[in-house]
Amino acid sequence: MKISVLGLGIMGAGMARQLIAKGFTVAVWNRDSAKAAPLAAAGARVASSVADAARGADVVLAMLANDEASHSVWLGDSGALAAMREGAVAIESSTLTVDWVRELSAAAHARGVEFLDAPVTGSKAQAESGALSFLVGGPAELLERMRPAFAAMGGSIAHLGPTGSGAMMKLINNFLCGVQVASLAEAIAMAERSGLDARQAAAVLGAGSPGSPLVKIVAQRMLDRAYDPNFLVPLMAKDLKYARDAFARAGIELKSADVAREQFVAAERAGYAGKDIASIVELLRR
Ligand code: NAP
Repeated sequence: MKISVLGLGIMGAGMARQLIAKGFTVAVWNRDSAKAAPLAAAGARVASSVADAARGADVVLAMLANDEASHSVWLGDSGALAAMREGAVAIESSTLTVDWVRELSAAAHARGVEFLDAPVTGSKAQAESGALSFLVGGPAELLERMRPAFAAMGGSIAHLGPTGSGAMMKLINNFLCGVQVASLAEAIAMAERSGLDARQAAAVLGAGSPGSPLVKIVAQRMLDRAYDPNFLVPLMAKDLKYARDAFARAGIELKSADVAREQFVAAERAGYAGKDIASIVELLRR
């Protein structure tokens, strides 16, 4: 299977590496070509353009920042869909709006290209070790054909339903993650300000009912002030925006997401755009 990976950020780079390591023939493309060089050393062909990556591929997988990036990479005369052969498969693994994913699926089908939405849970470490969880929307039979590729990058593959189901599940998932991290920042700030031993407080929270895997990991980063990015602040702000819009269309007002999102937007404006989501605690420490 010849697979092309479009987008070599924190997640895409790890995913491409896993595909190479598991024996797939991999081509890569990234807007900033400097990020492709380490993948060339690992055995990937570095494509000169999106079209060059997509041409001749059996599968094209995108891992991009947002709807705008996905739109610009897949569509248009120089986009991936225009260059893909009929019968090839497009996989969108970025966290995107459900509406855009459905539109993209229709555009793919109009060109004779098959389509799966397959966003992921897990972060940098899971991408680098092939331990992501895929949330897949689209035909079950197509997922079965793509299973070897997913298995190369992930330990768990859930089929959620028709096209857009993976994207919807991902937004519900990240809504909860965003709210947890925002409230955790407040909890850690309060522990510090009230004179408690913040590490002891974090241990109590982690061992108790609020101690989700995310709370445990991010609390540690907040305490250590370790903000090298695993998940960038602006991307969480984006996910909370996409989630609140999706929920609003279903008649559910996502007040908690709006309040949480304010913290990520404020952190982005305060200079933490290139930092990990854990860095939002710094605004409360001032
Ligand atoms: P990242 O490191 O910021 O990478 C973003 C990628 O999108 C880069 O390759 C970037 O290219 C590309 N991009 C941005 N705007 C573009 C545009 N207009 N045209 C073409 N390419 C563009 O982010 P990431 O953490 O890998 O996340 C990628 C996706 O996975 C996002 O949708 C994110 O929400 C989702 N996700 C992330 C995590 C996580 O923990 N990090 C977990 C699950 C899902 P350049 O390098 O040229 O800027």
